[in-house]
Amino acid sequence: MSELLADVLVIGAGPAGSVAAALLARSGFAVRVLEREAFPRFSIGESLLACSMELLEEAGMVEAVKARGFQLKNGAAFDRNGELSEFDFAHKSSPGYSFTFQVPRAEFDATLAAEAQRQGAEIRFETEITAVDFSGGRPKVTSRSARGVEVHEASFVLDASGFGRTLPRLLGLERPSAFPPRGAIFTHVRDNTAQGDFDRQKIRIGIHPTESDIWSWLIPFSNGHASVGVVAPVDHHRARTGSPEERFWQALAAEPRLRALLSRAETVRPVGEIIGYAATVTQLHGRHFALLGNAAEFLDPVFSSGVTIALKSASLAAAVLGRQLRGDDVDWQREFAEPLNYGVETFRAFVAGWYDGSLQRVIFFQRQPDNIRRMICSVLAGYAWDRGNPYTGSQAGRRLRTLAELCRPN
Ligand SMILES: Cc1cc2nc3c(=O)[nH]c(=O)nc-3n(C[C@H](O)[C@H](O)[C@H](O)COP(=O)(O)OP(=O)(O)OC[C@H]3O[C@@H](n4cnc5c(N)ncnc54)[C@H](O)[C@@H]3O)c2cc1C
Repeated sequence: MSELLADVLVIGAGPAGSVAAALLARSGFAVRVLEREAFPRFSIGESLLACSMELLEEAGMVEAVKARGFQLKNGAAFDRNGELSEFDFAHKSSPGYSFTFQVPRAEFDATLAAEAQRQGAEIRFETEITAVDFSGGRPKVTSRSARGVEVHEASFVLDASGFGRTLPRLLGLERPSAFPPRGAIFTHVRDNTAQGDFDRQKIRIGIHPTESDIWSWLIPFSNGHASVGVVAPVDHHRARTGSPEERFWQALAAEPRLRALLSRAETVRPVGEIIGYAATVTQLHGRHFALLGNAAEFLDPVFSSGVTIALKSASLAAAVLGRQLRGDDVDWQREFAEPLNYGVETFRAFVAGWYDGSLQRVIFFQRQPDNIRRMICSVLAGYAWDRGNPYTGSQAGRRLRTLAELCRPN
């Protein structure tokens, strides 16, 4: 047992942890990241949003990501009974990047972690946080690894442990999500599609022909593989029987167009399942800690917002924490929680609208005025924090519902 010092201790080296660590290390702080797994490691969440490129640029990581040869992504295509509605990020109303990537997360996350190390952060892999103590003047964090049990003392702890939700669990901050429990069953396939079968530069979201709350994703990668998954209410998943692989192909068969597109596909990794992923917390920060990315909240996979929210939370937290460590007075609620929540509320409204059917009506409405479609496109590209877009923030839900009323077929 030893006491090891750092200015900032980060739990988890996923996108939120690596970006926060890089930003703080670049500012001259001693940052230690403790990561449970050895990298590269699999993670779900492979389709990025264009807005995330700005955040990667801020963290000095965008060139390293571009150099990896990931599949370019320029938008999203929604398919309902053969009707296709495509959003090209070049047509968004907000300024900023109009492209991003579709990334096997093992490689993407390893790239970000290596960049954080290059910028001065220390990362200890295969080191799991097992206990925390916030009772004294400085937090103490206990880890377990092949080196044994260690106690790390720091001025501040950033929890970026994703679905591990380390501080919410250990400090009793967990709160159920207002969204009903849904689940996803997924794998990677060698898709064996022919050139021109579909647009590899777009995530393809296929909606079940009769049940609009069941949908599938197809996220192509640059090596001929693709991530494929089906999202449905938990009971729907539980009703299927057989091996995980059999259940995956049964679930996919319910979406005939995607099943046809993938008729020659072969799975290249074991089928995974995540049930009841939506979660939230009672508070985003406290004395000597803040929660980043999924450690705080996860909404839903449908708009691929998870990594972008994780990076945004890292960017906001690193700025506030940097000032705090330099001795400034800071207000975590006003400078971190409220600005972060502005964009989270945007995505929350879009997710709610997707499942109550109103947003699907907007997406497939053929006679949408061009300026409105550009605003919707902006949010789909991740620009959920653009206060110039009326479909963002706490007003987004009300405005989307009004818009959906205007999108009823005559
Ligand atoms: C079905 C599904 C599909 C999704 N699709 C998308 C998508 O297309 N696009 C998108 O942007 N997002 C997607 N997401 C969300 C995305 O996976 C997450 O939002 C994103 O990975 C969050 O990043 P993070 O840095 O907060 O956490 P993570 O990426 O989960 O990283 C957390 C890290 O912390 C480590 N850790 C955990 N506990 C401990 C501990 N006690 N001690 C030390 N280390 C620990 C973990 O090993 C992990 O490496 C999807 C989610 C689901 C469930």
